Amino acid sequence: MYDLGDTVEMKKPHACQTNRWQIIRMGADIKIKCENCGHIVMMTRREFEKKMKKVLEKKKEE
Ligand SMILES: [Zn+2]
Repeated sequence: MYDLGDTVEMKKPHACQTNRWQIIRMGADIKIKCENCGHIVMMTRREFEKKMKKVLEKKKEE
């Protein structure tokens, strides 16, 4: 399962060749941010679940 703050890998890397995205918002829509260039993509939860490959790192506990 994925959660806010996790780092995920998508099925396709970003145009900048990085495939590490951080989940920065979770609601009906999900926002992910490219860890390399800071580009933000918003998509529906359903779309996200189709496009996400795996969780790379869980959010670090405070
Ligand atoms: Zn990028």
